Amino acid sequence: MTKMWQTGAELAVIPDMTKKRGRKPMAKRDRKDQLVQTRVPGELSETLREAAKQNRVTVSQLIRNVLEDTFDLVDNVVGEAVQLGHSVRRDALKIAESAKGRGRRPSPSAGDPLADVEAWQDVLINKDVVCAQCARLVGRGEKAAFGVSSDPAAPKLWLCAVCAGRLSA
Ligand SMILES: [Zn+2]
Repeated sequence: MTKMWQTGAELAVIPDMTKKRGRKPMAKRDRKDQLVQTRVPGELSETLREAAKQNRVTVSQLIRNVLEDTFDLVDNVVGEAVQLGHSVRRDALKIAESAKGRGRRPSPSAGDPLADVEAWQDVLINKDVVCAQCARLVGRGEKAAFGVSSDPAAPKLWLCAVCAGRLSA
Protein backbone atom coordinates (compact mmCIF):
# COMPACT_ATOMS: atom_id res chain seq x y z
CA MET A 1 0.00 0.00 0.00
CA THR A 2 2.67 2.51 0.94
CA LYS A 3 4.19 2.01 -2.46
CA MET A 4 1.71 4.46 -3.90
CA TRP A 5 3.51 7.33 -2.13
CA GLN A 6 6.61 6.69 -4.09
CA THR A 7 5.12 7.57 -7.43
CA GLY A 8 5.32 11.20 -8.43
CA ALA A 9 1.68 11.84 -9.19
CA GLU A 10 0.47 11.53 -5.61
CA LEU A 11 3.07 13.71 -3.96
CA ALA A 12 1.04 16.83 -4.67
CA VAL A 13 -1.46 16.07 -1.89
CA ILE A 14 1.18 15.65 0.79
CA PRO A 15 1.90 19.33 1.58
CA ASP A 16 -1.79 19.90 2.36
CA MET A 17 -1.97 16.83 4.52
CA THR A 18 1.15 17.64 6.51
CA LYS A 19 -0.33 20.85 7.89
CA LYS A 20 -2.14 18.70 10.42
CA ARG A 21 1.05 17.10 11.65
CA GLY A 22 1.94 17.54 15.28
CA ARG A 23 -1.54 18.74 16.20
CA LYS A 24 -3.97 16.61 18.07
CA PRO A 25 -6.40 15.02 15.73
CA MET A 26 -9.61 16.99 15.69
CA ALA A 27 -12.68 15.44 17.22
CA LYS A 28 -14.77 13.81 14.54
CA ARG A 29 -17.65 16.26 14.86
CA ASP A 30 -15.31 19.25 14.47
CA ARG A 31 -13.85 17.96 11.26
CA LYS A 32 -14.83 19.66 8.08
CA ASP A 33 -14.23 17.31 5.25
CA GLN A 34 -12.38 18.80 2.35
CA LEU A 35 -12.01 17.48 -1.11
CA VAL A 36 -8.53 16.42 -2.10
CA GLN A 37 -8.17 15.43 -5.69
CA THR A 38 -5.30 13.53 -7.12
CA ARG A 39 -4.41 11.86 -10.35
CA VAL A 40 -3.34 8.24 -10.11
CA PRO A 41 -2.06 5.83 -12.74
CA GLY A 42 -4.70 3.50 -14.15
CA GLU A 43 -3.06 0.47 -12.59
CA LEU A 44 -3.20 2.02 -9.14
CA SER A 45 -6.81 3.05 -9.71
CA GLU A 46 -7.63 -0.58 -10.45
CA THR A 47 -5.82 -1.73 -7.33
CA LEU A 48 -7.71 0.83 -5.24
CA ARG A 49 -11.06 -0.29 -6.63
CA GLU A 50 -10.17 -3.92 -5.94
CA ALA A 51 -9.02 -3.19 -2.41
CA ALA A 52 -12.11 -1.09 -1.73
CA LYS A 53 -14.35 -3.87 -2.93
CA GLN A 54 -12.56 -6.39 -0.71
CA ASN A 55 -12.89 -4.12 2.31
CA ARG A 56 -16.48 -3.22 1.44
CA VAL A 57 -15.81 0.49 1.46
CA THR A 58 -15.84 3.11 -1.23
CA VAL A 59 -12.58 4.03 -2.94
CA SER A 60 -12.83 7.41 -1.26
CA GLN A 61 -13.20 5.85 2.19
CA LEU A 62 -10.35 3.48 1.49
CA ILE A 63 -8.02 6.31 0.53
CA ARG A 64 -9.10 8.30 3.55
CA ASN A 65 -8.33 5.33 5.81
CA VAL A 66 -4.95 4.83 4.20
CA LEU A 67 -4.11 8.51 4.56
CA GLU A 68 -5.18 8.59 8.20
CA ASP A 69 -3.19 5.47 9.00
CA THR A 70 -0.18 6.77 7.14
CA PHE A 71 -0.11 10.13 8.88
CA ASP A 72 -0.80 8.65 12.29
CA LEU A 73 2.22 6.50 11.65
CA VAL A 74 4.27 9.45 10.43
CA ASP A 75 3.26 11.52 13.47
CA ASN A 76 4.36 8.75 15.80
CA VAL A 77 7.64 8.25 14.00
CA VAL A 78 8.35 11.99 13.96
CA GLY A 79 7.44 12.22 17.65
CA GLU A 80 9.80 9.43 18.57
CA ALA A 81 12.57 10.86 16.43
CA VAL A 82 12.26 14.23 18.18
CA GLN A 83 12.37 12.45 21.53
CA LEU A 84 15.42 10.50 20.47
CA GLY A 85 17.04 13.68 19.18
CA HIS A 86 16.56 15.33 22.59
CA SER A 87 18.10 12.48 24.55
CA VAL A 88 21.01 12.10 22.16
CA ARG A 89 21.70 15.81 22.51
CA ARG A 90 21.46 15.59 26.30
CA ASP A 91 23.88 12.67 26.40
CA ALA A 92 26.29 14.46 24.10
CA LEU A 93 26.24 17.52 26.37
CA LYS A 94 26.89 15.35 29.42
CA ILE A 95 29.84 13.71 27.73
CA ALA A 96 31.21 17.06 26.63
CA GLU A 97 30.84 18.45 30.16
CA SER A 98 32.61 15.57 31.82
CA ALA A 99 35.35 15.71 29.22
CA LYS A 100 35.81 19.41 29.96
CA GLY A 101 35.74 18.69 33.68
CA ARG A 102 38.58 16.26 33.32
CA GLY A 103 40.63 18.80 31.42
CA ARG A 104 39.96 21.52 34.01
CA ARG A 105 41.98 19.78 36.69
CA PRO A 106 44.92 22.08 37.39
CA SER A 107 48.07 20.56 36.04
CA PRO A 108 50.70 23.26 35.63
CA SER A 109 53.31 20.58 35.32
CA ALA A 110 51.86 18.72 32.38
CA GLY A 111 54.64 16.43 31.24
CA ASP A 112 56.84 17.00 34.29
CA PRO A 113 55.66 15.00 37.32
CA LEU A 114 58.53 16.38 39.44
CA ALA A 115 56.96 19.87 39.36
CA ASP A 116 53.99 18.60 41.40
CA VAL A 117 56.23 17.60 44.30
CA GLU A 118 55.86 19.98 47.25
CA ALA A 119 58.79 18.71 49.26
CA TRP A 120 61.59 16.16 49.20
CA GLN A 121 62.04 14.08 52.29
CA ASP A 122 65.31 12.32 53.04
CA VAL A 123 64.72 8.62 53.36
CA LEU A 124 66.74 5.46 53.72
CA ILE A 125 65.74 3.06 50.97
CA ASN A 126 64.61 -0.39 51.96
CA LYS A 127 63.23 -1.62 48.65
CA ASP A 128 64.79 -0.77 45.32
CA VAL A 129 63.40 2.34 43.66
CA VAL A 130 64.26 4.21 40.50
CA CYS A 131 65.32 7.85 40.50
CA ALA A 132 62.72 9.95 38.76
CA GLN A 133 65.42 12.30 37.49
CA CYS A 134 68.25 10.12 36.22
CA ALA A 135 66.53 6.72 36.25
CA ARG A 136 69.32 5.22 38.35
CA LEU A 137 68.37 2.28 40.51
CA VAL A 138 68.59 3.12 44.22
CA GLY A 139 69.08 0.02 46.31
CA ARG A 140 68.49 -1.03 49.90
CA GLY A 141 70.51 0.96 52.42
CA GLU A 142 71.09 3.94 50.10
CA LYS A 143 69.92 7.43 50.84
CA ALA A 144 67.29 8.95 48.58
CA ALA A 145 64.60 11.59 48.61
CA PHE A 146 60.91 10.89 48.55
CA GLY A 147 58.63 13.37 46.82
CA VAL A 148 55.75 14.59 48.97
CA SER A 149 52.76 15.67 46.94
CA SER A 150 49.46 17.19 48.03
CA ASP A 151 47.71 14.92 45.59
CA PRO A 152 47.27 11.50 47.18
CA ALA A 153 46.62 10.02 43.76
CA ALA A 154 49.95 11.22 42.41
CA PRO A 155 52.51 8.51 41.67
CA LYS A 156 55.31 8.04 44.18
CA LEU A 157 58.49 9.80 43.14
CA TRP A 158 62.03 9.17 44.33
CA LEU A 159 65.32 10.93 43.76
CA CYS A 160 68.71 9.34 44.13
CA ALA A 161 71.16 11.04 46.51
CA VAL A 162 73.01 12.66 43.62
CA CYS A 163 69.90 14.24 42.09
CA ALA A 164 68.58 15.21 45.53
CA GLY A 165 71.93 16.85 46.28
CA ARG A 166 71.64 18.96 43.14
CA LEU A 167 68.37 20.40 44.43
CA SER A 168 70.00 21.92 47.49
CA ALA A 169 73.14 22.94 45.69
ZN1 LIG B 1 69.02 10.50 40.17
